[in-house]
Formats: sequence, C-alpha cells, structure tokens
Amino acid sequence: MTIFSDFALHKTIVQAIHDMGFEEPSPIQAACIPKILEGVDMIGQAQTGTGKTAAFGIPLLEKMTPANRIQAIVLTPTRELAIQVAGELRRIAKYKKIKTLPIYGGQSITHQIRALKQGVQVVIGTPGRVLDHLRRKTLRLDNVSMLVLDEADEMLDMGFIEDIETIINHLNEERQTLLFSATMPVEIKRLATRYMKNPETVAVSREEVTAPLIEQVYYKVFERNKVESLCRILDSEDVDLGIIFCRTKRGVDELSEVLQARGYLADGLHGDLSQAQRDKVMKAFREGTIEFLIATDVAARGIDVGNVSHVINFDIPQDPESYVHRIGRTGRAGRKGIAMTLVTPREMRQMMIIQKQTKAAVITRNVPTLEEVAERKQEQLREQLVELLESNAVAEMYEKVVEGLAQEYSLEKIAAAALHLAFHSEPGEGGEQEAYDFGETGAAKGMVRFFLNVGRNANLKPQDLVREISETVGIPGKAVGRIDIFENFTFVEVPDEVAPFVYEALRQTRINGKRINMEPAKPRGKR
Ligand code: AMP
Repeated sequence: MTIFSDFALHKTIVQAIHDMGFEEPSPIQAACIPKILEGVDMIGQAQTGTGKTAAFGIPLLEKMTPANRIQAIVLTPTRELAIQVAGELRRIAKYKKIKTLPIYGGQSITHQIRALKQGVQVVIGTPGRVLDHLRRKTLRLDNVSMLVLDEADEMLDMGFIEDIETIINHLNEERQTLLFSATMPVEIKRLATRYMKNPETVAVSREEVTAPLIEQVYYKVFERNKVESLCRILDSEDVDLGIIFCRTKRGVDELSEVLQARGYLADGLHGDLSQAQRDKVMKAFREGTIEFLIATDVAARGIDVGNVSHVINFDIPQDPESYVHRIGRTGRAGRKGIAMTLVTPREMRQMMIIQKQTKAAVITRNVPTLEEVAERKQEQLREQLVELLESNAVAEMYEKVVEGLAQEYSLEKIAAAALHLAFHSEPGEGGEQEAYDFGETGAAKGMVRFFLNVGRNANLKPQDLVREISETVGIPGKAVGRIDIFENFTFVEVPDEVAPFVYEALRQTRINGKRINMEPAKPRGKR
C-alpha cells in the first residue's frame, strides 16, 4: 500500500493532505504523483471522483516556489470547475506560501487584474478569460513551467481548442504539460502529440471487475442537500446494520456528528482513531448498539460483519474496484443486501463507468419525498403498535386513562391524541439538556424504576442488563437495583442520580440484537 509520505513531498504538503482527511492516494494519484514529480509529461484518463485534481495538484504545488511570478497555469472548461480546482489547490498549499487565483468569465476583470497584480504563483482559468487577459497584457505567462489541461474533452466539446492552442503558443517550450480527460477523442490525441513531450498515459483500471449479485441502486442527489437526502433514504428503509462510506476522514467525522445529532445510532471509523477506539466502535456495530457505521475505504478494509443489510456510498467510490470492495460488505452468507450510491450530477459519469466496468445492473431511484418518508413512518408506527397490542404489554394504568376519557371522546380521537403526544416533536427542538422528573415510579427509596419493552423473549438475563447499564453509565454493577424479567417486558431499578443517564443511554439501544424502548415505570396500582 502506498501512502502519501512515500512520495518525495515536502512535509508541509503531506501535512496539508493529512488535514484534508485523505488517508491514502487514489489509484490515479499513486500512478501520477511520482511521475509528475520526476518531470514527465502525462496524460491521465480519469473523470471527476477519481481524485484527479489532487493527482496533478499535489506535485504541482510541490514544485512551486514563493517567487513572485506565475509558474503554473491550469485550464478548465467551466468557471465552476476553475473555482473548485482553485479551492482544492489552496487546501493543498495551506502550509506553503503559494497563491492560487481562479480567473473566469462573468467575474469583474478589474477585480482579477488587481488580484493578479498582488502576485500569484498559480492561475486556474477558463480559456476565454485567460486569452482576454493575455490580449490586455494583464497576465504574463513567460515564467510558466507547468501547464495543466483539465477535463480536456469537455473543453473540446465547448469549442475551446483554438483558444487553448493560442494560449499554449504564449508559453515556454521548456515546460511540463499534463492533460486530464475522461475520454480520448482524436482531437485530444492530436493536441497531445503536438504539444506534449513523450507523454506517458495513465488510465485508472480498465480491467473488468465483478460485482457481487446483490441489489444495487443509485440516487441522484445534489451536493447541497446530500445529508438531507441521505436521511430520507435511511428513514424509508428497514436497516438492520448499515455501512456508510465517505471519501475522507473529515467526511466521516462530519457525517457522524450530523447523524448523531439527528438521532441516528451512528458512529465513525477511520485511521486516525486509536486501536482501542476502533475496537469499541466495531464492537458496538457488531452487537447492533449502533446501526450505522460510517467509514473510509481504508478503515472498512477487513471488516467482516455478517448481517450488514445496507452499504451506502455517501461519497461515490474512486474506482470500480473500490465500489466492488465496498458493496461486498453486504449480502454475506446468502443474506439479502442492498448497495446504494448517492450520485451528484458531476459524478454521473463516474457512476456510469462503474456500472459499465462491473457489468452491474444498477437501477436508479428517486430520493423519497417528505410525504413518502411520513408514510413510511406511519407504517413503522403501526407495526410498533400492533406488536405492543399483541404482546399485551401495555401498562394497566394507561388503560384506565383511556377508559376514563372514553366517556367523553371517541376511541379514534383518544388514540390519535396519544400518538401525537408520544411521537410529535417540534422540528429544531432538542439539543438542550432537559431536567428529568420521572415522577413516582414505584421504586425503592432513592431509586427510579424503568419499564423495558423486552424480556425473556429477547433472551434477556439479569446479568446482561447489569453489564449493559454499568458499562454505558459507568457505575458498578451492584449499584443496579431490583430487576424483574417477564416474558415480554422487564422492570429495572437504578439509583436516582444516574437515572437520566441510564434513560438517555439505554432508550435507543439494542440488547441481544433487539431494539429496546425504555420508559419510567408506573407505580403498581394505587394503594
Ligand atoms: P476529483 O476527482 O479531483 O474531482 O476529486 C473528487 C473528490 O475526492 C474531491 O472532493 C477530493 O477532495 C477527494 N479526494 C481526492 N483525493 C482523495 C484521496 N486520496 N482520498 C480521499 N479523498 C480524495
């Protein structure tokens, strides 16, 4: 396995890459970075999503010096890409005194001229605007030692070839030229032959890889509401255990935080965690106390958990092999599994390539609408209610309340009001630590008694419950009070002062793989 520090890179660059959360070079990076550092002209056949920007960005920035002159120019087909590439380069150059500037049509040219005058080392521009500056002599390219043509086939499609040739004619012959393109039409090949010196070609994995036979779908999503889309998808699925893949360690941390804040049982796994932390997360995942494991490719390597029902590519994989690796985490041992990939418009091409090379039938689905999610939630609520009704585990006290109310209101209205009370939450609420008052729970003095909706039916034994409580709350096992396990439910008493913790910690957990629900108990009849 190659790591970034294997390359001849200055530590400032390696540190910046680390900060960006990249764990290891993507295939195109592993192939390109050493060659570009050597000074070779290169053609990279790669599309968005493969890490191509950093593949040229890292060696490019390694070679830049703080001298006040433009040393590299990157040409891109669109302003969006120019801005995006400039952003990525800026992050790589975080600890190096190198200035990057995007110049594109649509932005005030005087503003750009002013920025250029302040001195920059790397310019990222669209061909039209770059040419404009050259004509006005507001851009000097005679010191450029590196030219990058990014998404060359797109530039060809947009009719920029002539502009590109004009720009190249302003450059030194003594330069390194890099060309990145998803496809290689003859015009691009011709450009390469004419303007590049013995270029070497790198293509990311052209071999076929076989995807396992599991259901595969992808969702078209927009970058700006990717998290919301993910949540809707999760809410409308019956997930046993799910692995959610992110590209970077940072991505893993951010997504874990957001999902936890939204109440999902989720935790992250990546290479910056200590072995002990990783073991803890994996244990929780195996036991089902967390439902979603959020991981990078590297961290997920070697994970062997049997009942993963969902693999979700929150970020699209960088190559077909990685896709196959990821989705192979589900559908183990003849079980059913589904692989879902979130695809932004810019990543569609990458999705198509994955599909083609894996020969997989990946069908597309729409992100569920709010109404669909609500419908699904209703269904789940109904299932929970039926289960409760069948198990006869409803506390007597509730029945008394209903009987009383039934004198005045219809049973439909009472039930609906009860559900509203139980499940309705104001959006944006929560987060604040509430003060708990569990009221009279029929417990011994100084204790709070809780009702759990599982019992012998979940193979629950007193020692399981004691261990669970003492471990999650950090109290000695003997501090746990009286435990009564019945067929379908359980009562447990815990000390007053830890009751809120126990409540928060256990309310949404699973014991022996069964999801538990926990409530303060009601006193046994009124004496
Ligand atoms: P690109 O193919 O250049 O458009 O990159 C797609 C995304 O992958 C960008 O968000 C990059 O920041 C990210 N990326 C690039 N290289 C790596 C890497 N080695 N590890 C993780 N993420 C990466």
